[in-house]
Amino acid sequence: MSDCLFCKIVEGKIPAKKIYEDEKSLAFRDINPQAPVHFLVIPKKHIPTLLEASEEPELIGYLAQVIKKVAAQEGLDGEGFRSVVNVKEQGGQTVYHLHFHVLGGRFMKWPPG
Ligand code: 5GP
Ligand code: ZN
Repeated sequence: MSDCLFCKIVEGKIPAKKIYEDEKSLAFRDINPQAPVHFLVIPKKHIPTLLEASEEPELIGYLAQVIKKVAAQEGLDGEGFRSVVNVKEQGGQTVYHLHFHVLGGRFMKWPPG
């Protein structure tokens, strides 16, 4: 997807603070962090939202493994963290390339805003 921001990050056309990468996924720090640790886990493949991702359950499981691995790398596995997927307008999605937010390093409030 030539006009997708996160595809451009995957392709290296836009810089990002990458903290994990393998053949299928990428994790990088959010440019506007909402917690002491805030990174995004994305598939390299362009998938617009979680709705389309439901057609690829094995990929979701794979990304869950990546979240676990990178959360541990970032020191979040002991105390815990929050992972969020915003879906479409009312969910607050602004970038239409599937991404799991991972936020940690402080206590999270509930309900979210
Ligand atoms: P959404 O609102 O779609 O759930 O989340 C998109 C996230 O991407 C936001 O938290 C936003 O701060 C982050 N973001 C937007 N543009 C960039 C960018 O160019 N680089 C990085 N690293 N993060 C970005
Ligand atoms: Zn994309």
